[in-house]
Amino acid sequence: MATIEMKNIVKEYGDGFPAVNDVSIDVADGEFLILVGPSGCGKSTLLRMIVGLEDITSGDMVIGGKRVNDLAPRDRNLSMVFQNYALYPHLTVYENIAFPLRLAGMKSSEIDEKVRQASATLDLDEHLERKPANLSGGQRQRVAMGRAIVRDAEAFLFDEPLSNLDAKLRGQMRTEIARLQKKLGITTVYVTHDQTEAMTLGDRVAVLKRGVLQQLATPRELYEQP
Ligand code: ADP
Ligand code: ADP
Repeated sequence: MATIEMKNIVKEYGDGFPAVNDVSIDVADGEFLILVGPSGCGKSTLLRMIVGLEDITSGDMVIGGKRVNDLAPRDRNLSMVFQNYALYPHLTVYENIAFPLRLAGMKSSEIDEKVRQASATLDLDEHLERKPANLSGGQRQRVAMGRAIVRDAEAFLFDEPLSNLDAKLRGQMRTEIARLQKKLGITTVYVTHDQTEAMTLGDRVAVLKRGVLQQLATPRELYEQP
């Protein structure tokens, strides 16, 4: 578990106009922060700088009290769930969830325990031997989350994880993610362009516009001062 401190974060891709412009946000331990704003406002760029998939032009990224600007993704101990789930099509649900643990060289018996635990939490026990192609969108989404939660990461990062689902499933998964986040008590940053998600899912909402932080408030505060 960890705090995430973004201090005067700037990202320039080289075309002059900063994609992220002097953004400072402190995410508390166990907090669920939403990053919201229209397409192109810099949400994904900011998330990718937290996880280490994008270099920071200037500013400090501090995770769990440690400056991580120069740390590779693998050394940041974070878990990211992508929009397209990025599941391995040739692997079963079990092996998809186990993958990061195999990579880390964990013993098979420990892996088994972790995978069983995660699949029970996510209601996937009955699907462990299936391949991703034979799952529904919501089930695939849960497999991606299973892969994120087995890692004992310090924080979860979500990049529009529900945008490919239909409205009904999106509603269900939204409830599921909120429940899971509270249950695990894990620091979470969640990117969306969806107002409903922004106003219902998180503890606080950061509103970005053209790379600039416009507002940082609880959904209630945002609701009361539109
Ligand atoms: P959002 O996630 O809010 O849609 P992005 O972070 O993807 O926004 O993009 C923010 C800005 O940075 C946009 O103007 C986009 O065109 C630009 N951008 C994003 N990725 C790159 C890249 N790899 N190279 C150059 N410009 C980029
Ligand atoms: P390499 O090119 O050496 O494989 P990468 O930067 O692609 O290095 O990633 C290697 C490790 O970084 C992965 O095993 C994983 O631990 C971590 N990693 C990469 N992307 C992510 C992500 N989106 N979320 C969490 N961890 C990641």
